[in-house]
Amino acid sequence: MVSDRAPIALGEWHPPGSSRSVPSRLVESGGQIAAQDETRANLAAADFGQLDIAARVGSIPRRVEFPDGSLFETTDNDAIDRLLTERGNVVHGFIHQLERFRPRLILVVAATIALGWAVYRFAVPALVEVAVMVTPPVVPQIMSASALKALDSGILDQTQLTAERQGRIREGFRSIANASSRGEAGYTLNFRKGGVVGPNAFALPDGTLIVTDELVDLAGDDTEMIVGVLAHEIGHVELKHSLRQVYRAAGVAGLIMMIGGDIGSGAEDVLVQGAGLVSLSYSRGAESAADRHSVELMLKAGRDPAAIARFFDLLEDKLDDHGDTSILSTHPGTPERRKAILDYAAELSAKAQ
Ligand SMILES: [Zn+2]
Repeated sequence: MVSDRAPIALGEWHPPGSSRSVPSRLVESGGQIAAQDETRANLAAADFGQLDIAARVGSIPRRVEFPDGSLFETTDNDAIDRLLTERGNVVHGFIHQLERFRPRLILVVAATIALGWAVYRFAVPALVEVAVMVTPPVVPQIMSASALKALDSGILDQTQLTAERQGRIREGFRSIANASSRGEAGYTLNFRKGGVVGPNAFALPDGTLIVTDELVDLAGDDTEMIVGVLAHEIGHVELKHSLRQVYRAAGVAGLIMMIGGDIGSGAEDVLVQGAGLVSLSYSRGAESAADRHSVELMLKAGRDPAAIARFFDLLEDKLDDHGDTSILSTHPGTPERRKAILDYAAELSAKAQ
């Protein structure tokens, strides 16, 4: 078929599944759209509605696919756009747009997921550090007071330890608190009957330490071991582990509000979560850091730096409880961890001599 009308666009035609290209012109011919060769013979032809016309992406050559699988390719994007507009096949064009949009949609979704991951991986830790830096001392105090209150009303009971026993532990506690960077005034030691939490010790972000009767009983006559555990808890406070945990739980929005100084509902939520402090377990890294802190503090106070390692031995020997609130779940003890403590204690002791 021969057409005398001006071509819609000039380009190349590729037979189905072939990279061979034939110089071609896209024309309207007999009510159809056709790709013609230089002799104006149809290479392919179809109704406009049967064509698959690629969406415009920058200046990338535009492809018009015929039902037989052959392609007409042109750099004249404007011409193809004009064809689409002229045909005024809005609905058809729109559906095509949607279909063509899918790869881009997938890209957008993938980018969103990647961004979310990046925020979680990098922005949250960064925001946590900023929040920790700008936290006024009153914030951990409020958190800790509310946490202790919640613990006392729900879980913990008054201690049944004798005054004499408490006194011995307190004496050791004072010596390590003194050796710490906050000093003795930075810490308060509380004895409580643990009940469901069993043998445990925890530190609230303001330096409030709690040790349960059950832990003291487990340690028996080895007061040094208890002091080692308290030195470990002091490590968690000095390294601001529990404050970080709460902030991590607060999420990005909460953190931004905190940093922005907006003591509104968001910040309040964060503070209320302080009550959940004791159920938050620390990362392995935080645990080893607190272990090292215990070794350093005990040595500095002239006490047994390896006492905390003995405690983990004891726990594994005597405790079968692997429940969520046991000290083993919040302070997982492993042979590697004990070895790391003993190695570090030996290393520091050797240096000190
Ligand atoms: Zn710990």
